Order: sequence, then C-alpha cells, then structure tokens
Amino acid sequence: MEVHVSNQQTPNTGTNLDPWYSNYADRAAGLSVSEVRALFAVASRPEVVSLAGGMPAVSALPQDLVVTAMNRVMRDEGSIALQYGSGQGVPRLREHILEVMAMEGIRGSVDDVVVTTGSQQALDLVTKLFINPGDVILAEAPSYVGAIGVFRSYQADIVHVLMDDDGLIPDALREAIAREKSAGKSIKFLYTIPNFHNPAGVTLTASRRDEVMQICRSEGILVIEDNPYGLIYFDGPPPAPMRSTEDEGVIYLGSFSKTFAPGFRVGWAIAPHAIREKLVLAAESAILCPSAFSQLVISEYLETADWRAQINTFRGVYEERKNTMLQALNEYLPDLHHTNPDGGFYIWLTLPDYLDTKQMLPRAVKELVAYTPGTAFYADGGGRNKMRLSFCYPTPDQIRLGIRRLTTVINGEIDL
Ligand code: PMP
Repeated sequence: MEVHVSNQQTPNTGTNLDPWYSNYADRAAGLSVSEVRALFAVASRPEVVSLAGGMPAVSALPQDLVVTAMNRVMRDEGSIALQYGSGQGVPRLREHILEVMAMEGIRGSVDDVVVTTGSQQALDLVTKLFINPGDVILAEAPSYVGAIGVFRSYQADIVHVLMDDDGLIPDALREAIAREKSAGKSIKFLYTIPNFHNPAGVTLTASRRDEVMQICRSEGILVIEDNPYGLIYFDGPPPAPMRSTEDEGVIYLGSFSKTFAPGFRVGWAIAPHAIREKLVLAAESAILCPSAFSQLVISEYLETADWRAQINTFRGVYEERKNTMLQALNEYLPDLHHTNPDGGFYIWLTLPDYLDTKQMLPRAVKELVAYTPGTAFYADGGGRNKMRLSFCYPTPDQIRLGIRRLTTVINGEIDL
C-alpha cells in the first residue's frame, strides 16, 4: 500500500507507469491515495473487524421509510425529481435545512443556504474559492483526512494548530497566526470541526468557541465550521455553533450523511451573503446542480417521517457502541490514553512514542482488525503513534472482538 503523508508536492517528472504522468497539472500532485481509502479494500473482507472507516450505521434507518418517500416523490413530483434544478438547491429542502439548523441555534433565511453534494463538495468549493497555491489554511492537529485531501489538491499550505481534550487551543492558534503572518504568509481560513471531532473525538468548549471567534474576528480570518456530527450527541447537545453568534465571519457546513443516509449525498453550506453567491456560481460550474431526486426524497422524508425520533435512534446505537469500545479499551489497554467522545463516531488512541501505527497496520490486519493510522490526519507527518478507532459501523460484539485483537497486536509491540 503506497501512502503519501508529506505536505510537499511531488514534481510531475520521472518515470511512472501512467503515460500521461508528465502532463498533469501541478495541483494533481496533491491527489494521492488516502490512507483511509487504501484501507477500505483490506478492511472490507468479512473476517476483518474494521474499526477504520467512518461509515454510518444505515441499518438503523428503516428502509421502508426511504422507500415510501421515494415512491411519493416519483408519484407526485417525478418530472421535477428527474430534471435539472436550481444550482443553489430546491427551496423546499432549504426550508427544511433551516428547521434542522434551528435545532442547533442557527437562524437564517433560505437564501443563505447552498445545498451541496455532501459537505465534502462544500469543502471543495470553499477551498476552490479562497486558495491560491501556497496560501495557509489553519487546521486542528489532527484534522479530517478528507479535508486535508481537498486542501492539498488546491496546493494549500496546511498549518496544524494543537488541540487538547477541550478542542483547539486558543493560545496555539494565536501563535500560529503570528508565526505565519510574520513569515509573510497569507492565511485564508481556519478549518475546524468543533463537535465530536473527526478523528480526535473531542469537543471545543463554549468558552474556547468564543475565544477562537474573537481571535479570528480581530485577525480577519474566516472560519469554516464543519459540523456533520453535531446532532449525534449522547448525553446532551454540544455548545452552540460558532455560526449561531456570528454571521459574517463563519461558513457553516452541514450534512444529512449522519442524520439520514450518506447515499443520497446531500449536505449544505450556510455562508455570508457575498460568499454564498460565489459558492453557487462555483457549484454550478462544478456540477450544474445537486441531485433534485435526492433533495426531494429527503424533503419528503423530513415532512412525513419522525426524523427527530430517527436521530434519537441513531444516538442510541452510537452511544451503545461507544460505551462498548470504551469499556473494552479500559479493560484491555488501561495504560493508553484515549479520548472519550460525547457524540460522533470516533475515539483517538495514543500509543507510546516509539510505536508507529502505520507500520503496525499489516500486523493488525493479520490479526483480523483494522484501524486508521494517525498520520492520515496530519499534513506534516505527525500522529505516528496515534490511531483513530471508529465505533460507528461494527456491532458491539464485533467492537469487543476488534479491541481484543488490537490488544494482542499492541502488546506484542510494547516494551514491557
Ligand atoms: N467533514 C467531516 C468532519 C466528516 O467526517 C465527513 C464525512 N466523513 C465529511 C465532512 C463529509 O461528509 P459528507 O460529504 O458525507 O457530507
């Protein structure tokens, strides 16, 4: 498995089996196989317990609810569902997105919402709008592997900012901004996942949210608040999103992938007015319009099914899985530090400094367990002794078995 972890762009020269190798644009050098993607092939073998991917537990969504919504859409609005539509998204769904957003304390008008093909596309569009090669993007250390991939593909300079169990550290943010500015770099935005972080599993505290906003406001730095997991909380809701207190300096990204189903590929961005217009133009140039069929099925589902109860069901499923993983970690690997997420899909495990989770992975797969090595979540080669453990997809029994197998692998590596 070949995996690039360096932030440096490789030149498009040299020999390669691809006859077009030397023709690619420079930005294509940032497109390399992500460690997560390369893992999927191995981890999807049925005998392997995969704690690697972040796949939602779609089996907890009754399929008849989806079938009913699809049938109604085709019966009543088939000609609209099968047609091209608005580049900004169908107004009916944008209304519903505002209802979902109101649950998180965000108010806005339907004009502020841009529907995208998953929040992944919103990340791509925002980066396309703002990043020239070499521009700085500030991102937590670690950060979402799919965002790092997008940022690299636009040749951004990704600068990591330290976090702890309370999320991004404001002093570390101040230092990073001062350092990059004094080096003459142009900082375009802060990318942050404040709730149930992927991969770290931590949540930014309310007071730090205020502080981060204050720093970014005074430094003139735009905030990209990526919040696909905010409604998947266990004990109680996380602190209010940054977008709920600040309209002008924040682009908020949301998604139906975790509260409904990722297969429909529907997410959204809520952006300041001027940026929103640019986002729509960029979306139109990328895909003309998001899928009308997907948007109408989700609208129908939200109108006719008890989607709030369904989100509660998801919460229960994920909380049970998290508790199982936590219990197994405490029982089998009591000396290792791990995070304890209040929601979302992930636990971040720290091994002794001298261990390398990427090198350890083939041995883990031999023991029939897979995880994502920490380096996948850093643009600078960091995270060697860390790993992300996903509890979202495997059943509780599989999780226990997976952690037992992982313990065998780790104990075989640790100097006792
Ligand atoms: N942001 C984060 C932090 C994620 O974890 C994910 C999915 N794993 C995404 C964005 C993309 O989600 P989607 O495109 O399915 O909305």
